[in-house]
Amino acid sequence: MGPSRCQLCEAQEETMEHILNNCTYTSWLWDSFNSIFQQTNRDKGSIINTLNKWRKNFSEYEILNLAWTFTPSFIIWNAWKERNKRIFKDEKTTPLCLMELILKQIKETVSTTVHSYPSNPPTVLELRTLKQLSMHEIILNGLSKKEKMLEKEKESWHPPPKGYLKCNIDGASKSNPGIPGYGGVLRDEDGKIIFTFHCHLGQATNKMVELMALEQCLELLKLNHSSNVLIEVDSQIAINEVKKISYGTVPKRVSKQWRLIQVYQRIQKHLQSLRTVSFNHVWRKANKLADLLANQGMINLECKIEMKWQEMPPSRLKSLYDTQATEEK
Ligand SMILES: [Zn+2]
Repeated sequence: MGPSRCQLCEAQEETMEHILNNCTYTSWLWDSFNSIFQQTNRDKGSIINTLNKWRKNFSEYEILNLAWTFTPSFIIWNAWKERNKRIFKDEKTTPLCLMELILKQIKETVSTTVHSYPSNPPTVLELRTLKQLSMHEIILNGLSKKEKMLEKEKESWHPPPKGYLKCNIDGASKSNPGIPGYGGVLRDEDGKIIFTFHCHLGQATNKMVELMALEQCLELLKLNHSSNVLIEVDSQIAINEVKKISYGTVPKRVSKQWRLIQVYQRIQKHLQSLRTVSFNHVWRKANKLADLLANQGMINLECKIEMKWQEMPPSRLKSLYDTQATEEK
């Protein structure tokens, strides 16, 4: 008996290497999946080369990694089954239909195996791959569930955990620079207000307003001997400034920004002495009271501190209110 002819391409001699790797039929499958996973051209030398190249991690996404890992077994298994079907049942499936079948099998296997949904949205390339694998819905559903939960949590104000205080601060301005205001409120674990403050500034940038709100908040926390305080802001500027200050990356001597530098330095000092303060970004809805207070400062052009624990404002802070902060020049 001479060599058998390959049932898949009906052209070449049938060997294991040919059926699993070199046959135009199987090659088409390998290349198509290579392109789905955006891999460079595979080394067509041998099946071992093809599999070796497949053996690295594909992405940070478990779901993509699983799809990537399962793909070779599915290609090999289905090519072999197709070969047998042609011999024993005299039935043919086109490579394209077989690819559809493989995609379905991968999707089924992955969706029953995956443990974790990524916490970050996929990159453009990852999303493209997921779409081609028809798996973007799994991942997007997983993501949106998680995101919805997180968003919900950030959407409304929650009292701090037992033993903690929460301070919400905010800045408000009609234009940048303009006549802005800022405000804040400290509440305990039962949601009871410990103090509120609001004030207006002279012309100041958004950055300055956020910094002034922060400085005021820290100063009052210090006066109040508060510890274990969670500070919530809805401004990304404020979070960035806090990062700069805590990492000590504040510019030291920029003469034109002397006012800004001074504020930075004062905040830095406060943060050093208030060791149990942490920051968190929330959505505006969760920061409503601070937003209202900031607006009150801006619209009514007034400065006020209201506290349960002593008559206010203390003389130390009064001076802060009397001076109109000027724009950093
Ligand atoms: Zn062939």
